[in-house]
Parts: sequence; C-alpha cells; structure tokens
Amino acid sequence: MEIVVFWFRRDLRLIDNTALSQALSSGYPVLPVFIFDQNILNELANDDPRFNFIYQNLKSIHQKLSKNGSSLLCKHGDPIEVFQSLLKPYKIKKVFFNKDYEPYAIKRDEKLKKLLLQNGVTAQSYKDQVIFEESEIVKTDGKPYTIFTPYKKKWFHRFAQNKLRIENTIDFKNFIQFEVPFPELIDLGFEPSTIKVKDFDLSQIDTYEQTRNYPWTDETSYLGTHLRFGTVSIRAIIDQLKPYHQTFLSELIWREFFMQILFHFPKNVDHNFKSKFDGLKWRNDEKEFEKWKQGKTGYPLVDAGMRQLNQTGFMHNRVRMIAASFLIKHLLIDWRWGEAYFAEKLLDFELSSNNGNWQWVAGTGCDAAPYFRIFNPIQQAVKFDKEGIYTKKWIPELGQSNYPPPIVDHRMARERALKAYKMNT
Ligand code: FAD
Repeated sequence: MEIVVFWFRRDLRLIDNTALSQALSSGYPVLPVFIFDQNILNELANDDPRFNFIYQNLKSIHQKLSKNGSSLLCKHGDPIEVFQSLLKPYKIKKVFFNKDYEPYAIKRDEKLKKLLLQNGVTAQSYKDQVIFEESEIVKTDGKPYTIFTPYKKKWFHRFAQNKLRIENTIDFKNFIQFEVPFPELIDLGFEPSTIKVKDFDLSQIDTYEQTRNYPWTDETSYLGTHLRFGTVSIRAIIDQLKPYHQTFLSELIWREFFMQILFHFPKNVDHNFKSKFDGLKWRNDEKEFEKWKQGKTGYPLVDAGMRQLNQTGFMHNRVRMIAASFLIKHLLIDWRWGEAYFAEKLLDFELSSNNGNWQWVAGTGCDAAPYFRIFNPIQQAVKFDKEGIYTKKWIPELGQSNYPPPIVDHRMARERALKAYKMNT
C-alpha cells in the first residue's frame, strides 16, 4: 500500500495544521510521525519542562488518533536515520511537513529532501507558523527589512489583501489504521518536571495596551510557549483579534520580524548584527554572572525577574528588558551569556525572538535600542511596580538584612558602559 507521511515538528496540533491538512487531502493514507531528535534532546536536562510539555501534547494527539483507529508513530534518534529506516517497511509516496526557519532545521530539512529525492519520494513543506515567511515581506528592491516600522507597515498592507484560511475540521479516516504504543517518559530518558506551562489566555486582551508593561498585573497572554510548539495556530489567534487589538497584533508582528531577520541573517545566532560592536570589551565576571542568574544582584526588579524565570520558566517582557539591560550594561557581560541562560530556562524560548531581543537590548541588533539608553533599574521599578507587588512576590526577604546590597553602583556602572560602547562607535 502506498502511503504519505506527516511529520509533526513544532506544530503539535491536529486542527488548522497546514501540512497535515494537505497530507490528509492527498488521496493516500497518512502515517503521522514524531521524532524525538537526539541532537536536540542531548542538550536538555532530564526534567526539562519544555520536553514534558511536548510529551504531554504528543500523548494527547496519540490518544485522539487512537480513538479513531490510528496512532502516532514516535521514533527516537537522528531524523535522517529515522527516515532512512522508515523507507524500508513503508512504500512512501510523499513526506509532508511545515517549514522551520532556524538554521539547524533548514540544514536538517535540506539533508532530508536529498535523501527522499534519492529514493524517489517527494518532500512537501508548507508555511504554517507565521502569516508571512522568508521573503514575503521585503523592500521594493527585494532586500529584507531591518527596521521594524516599515516592515510592519508592509505586513499590514499584505495582510489586508489576504483572507485568513482556517481549517477547523479534520478527517480521521484518512489516517492509516494501525496501533502502536505511546512511549513512557522514562524510556525517553526524561522525568516529570515541577514547572508547568500555563494555558494561554486572551480574556484580558481588551486592556492589553494599558496593562502589558506592568508585571504585577500578570495579564499578558502567555501565548509564547504555545506559538513556539504550535499547540495553537497563529491564524486562529489572529482571527480572534478585533481592529482595536493593534498593540497586541504588533507584538505578534515583532515575532515574525525577528523570524525573518534570523532567516536572512543566520550569522546573528552568535554574531552582532552591527559588526562595529565586535570589539566591545566585555568584563565577563563569572561571579557577577552567577549572582545575576540567582537573582541576587541587590536590584529588586532584576532579581524578582530572574527568580520568576528560575521558578516558573517565565519572565514578564518589561522585566526581561530590564534584567537583560542590567547584565549587558551594568555588568558589561556579553549578551550571548544572558541569551544562553534565557534559552536554557524560558519555556517560550524561541531562537529568533530571544536573539533579536537580546541584541535589541544590547544595541548590537537591527533596529536596536541606542547603546546609550541604559535602563535605571530603580526608576523602572518605581514606574512599573510602584507598590512593589511584583518584587515582593518573588523576593520574600526584600527589605530584610538577608537581601544583598547592590553589586554595582548604578552611576558608576552607567558611565563605565557608556565609555566601553563609545570606543566602538
Ligand atoms: P504577550 O505580551 O501576551 O505577547 C503575545 C505574543 O507576542 C508573545 O507570546 C510573542 O509571541 C509575541 N511577542 C511579544 N513581545 C515580543 C517581542 N518583544 N519580540 C518577539 N515577539 C514578541 N519571546 C519569545 O517568544 N521567546 C523568547 O525566547 C524571548 N526572549 C526574549 C528575551 C528578551 C531579553 C526580551 C526582552 C524579550 C524576549 N521575548 C521572547 C519577547 C517577549 O518578552 C515574550 O514574547 C513575552 O514576554 C511572552 O509572554 P506572553 O506570551 O504573555 O506575551
């Protein structure tokens, strides 16, 4: 029997999944596959909460398929080798998957396409995780935008010309009817995590513009992790928005902006977008880095953010900016150190957004904050957490003798940072 394969990757849902819908209407029975990619898993702690989230979502997909006489075939290993092994027992006509724009994924998918081609199998990949991808939004000369505002303008212009298409149903009878067991977490080398991913919540979206900068309100959407792993479709989210939700939509466009930046400038992964800052003399003091990580800098808003991150895998956007700025400017620690720590801890870690935002704060990125904008963490706390609700929540010992004094003096650190940056301008 000839079949087609649908490969789940960062699109862990059955509804409104572009490549899956295409596979299901291909006329061939669909074998749904997920590969626990050894190359990625090797980097994770045994109790990584993101792995747990992926695992739970796959299990739920498997259960839905099982109720309809099918299964999710889970494999473990290197994706290319896994596909090599699938080519033997199955007569595969086509492999369907949604595109992933990260440098590792692009290389992996190129390798897979080559392997499939050698075996007479077609690879069909689709845009799914964004509204506009790759070079769909570019300047009139075909070059990518590196400034957000004109990118956003063009994005809106194109968006107005298109109608969102959302597939709300799924035809289960087009999956291959078969039964395989779902793997146990422990057999994959993982254990349960105490950190859980919150459901996303759009119920406060009408007041998003007024509350989004105040961490104590805790009223942002928590969509990040769900968009990262595709447990919800970006089209379904945008379809719910009203014209007065522009500020929220703008944030979603920042996400796509940074994705296209990384796609066009993959060197950004470990290089400054603005190479004039390559010679910047970082201090890179390991003891201070440790204090920053633990939330023991003596600056309450920075420390509260880092503790929220360590305990929950989440940090409010405003506090991410302040904590990142403190590390880069006050401590003169290379933004790549902070970026790597966020990548390890954030549930919503997204390479393009993390890199783009760290470089934005560092002033080394495209359309970045000017290097001389140095957040005063005390004033920021007064402005955005006036009553100290957020800081007290995360620092129970605040105001007591066991809370540490500031590890650097704000004025001195500010001058030091300006001097270091000026030498590269
Ligand atoms: P909401 O405020 O409800 O926003 C809705 C969605 O819009 C977010 O889920 C996200 O998809 C998008 N969005 C919002 N702000 C931004 C932004 N500045 N850049 C890109 N997309 C945005 N976001 C990530 O998704 N992954 C990261 O790894 C990440 N790292 C960051 C690192 C730093 C130093 C900073 C300053 C910001 C980072 N952000 C990152 C952006 C932002 O902080 C998070 O998207 C947001 O806090 C997630 O919470 P939420 O889903 O409740 O956001």
